[in-house]
Amino acid sequence: MKVIEQNVETILRPTSINLAPFVINPYQGCSLGCCFCYAQFSKVAQKQTEPWGSYVKVKINAIDVLKKELKQIQPKSVLLGSITECFQLIEKKYGITRQILELLNEQAVPFTIMSRSMLIIDYLDLLTQGNCQSIYFTVNALPQVLNDEFNMQAPDFKQGLETIAKLQNEKLKVIGYFCPILPMISDIKQIVNSAKGVIKQAEFEMINFNMAKQGLIVKAIEKHYPKYKPEYEKMLRDKVFFEHTMKNSEQIIFQQAGNGFQNLKVHVHEYAEYFANKY
Ligand code: SF4
Repeated sequence: MKVIEQNVETILRPTSINLAPFVINPYQGCSLGCCFCYAQFSKVAQKQTEPWGSYVKVKINAIDVLKKELKQIQPKSVLLGSITECFQLIEKKYGITRQILELLNEQAVPFTIMSRSMLIIDYLDLLTQGNCQSIYFTVNALPQVLNDEFNMQAPDFKQGLETIAKLQNEKLKVIGYFCPILPMISDIKQIVNSAKGVIKQAEFEMINFNMAKQGLIVKAIEKHYPKYKPEYEKMLRDKVFFEHTMKNSEQIIFQQAGNGFQNLKVHVHEYAEYFANKY
């Protein structure tokens, strides 16, 4: 893992993500290196020559910059971690996220967090001071065989649920975010049934072929689920089939979930004609 310390000029950035008007990313890059990660396609990551997952840039002056910025801007709320994992391993050494949370609490700035790291539990003291509005905690919903194939470093399904339960025990609002869901392959019944008793609010996101590495996925499916390879190839080529397949998966989630969650959302991405060109 290549660690690059860098000074930044800004840390508080406006965002179009509808979770907050501003975003803070204490790091750039991510040691977890999930192969489905959207952040690897961000403008800043695309400029990097190293492969995604092999480097982390540490914004070492983040706290000083944020202090200055908060004198100019009083954000209604901020989102932490849109293109990085705030609680990745390197945080143990640098504590940039810790410093930022301390400052946000000190100045009573409400925040929302996106994470998939169990290390978030070490920050309960900072999350329970009344400023944490919600935590979107992504649970790895891939079958084990694909976790191994993609060398996923993120916590597994069980660890994800355990982490959410601990956060909820502290009365924090947590949205269990199950992603990516692979049509025909993800065991939706098992995922929903395991999550129902544990998680209060759940969101499911179907795989985003626009962002994912399609060739890699189809190859893995050919290897481990050969009978679904034709369907996956067809989904990438055929808009009608793609929409029909996604709709089916969405319906299965709602059927299985019943009234098991206080809130349930399913995110389905639109088909893009350029799927076919990419794959
Ligand atoms: S943990 Fe989050 S930011 Fe890091 S690689 Fe995985 S999806 Fe991307």
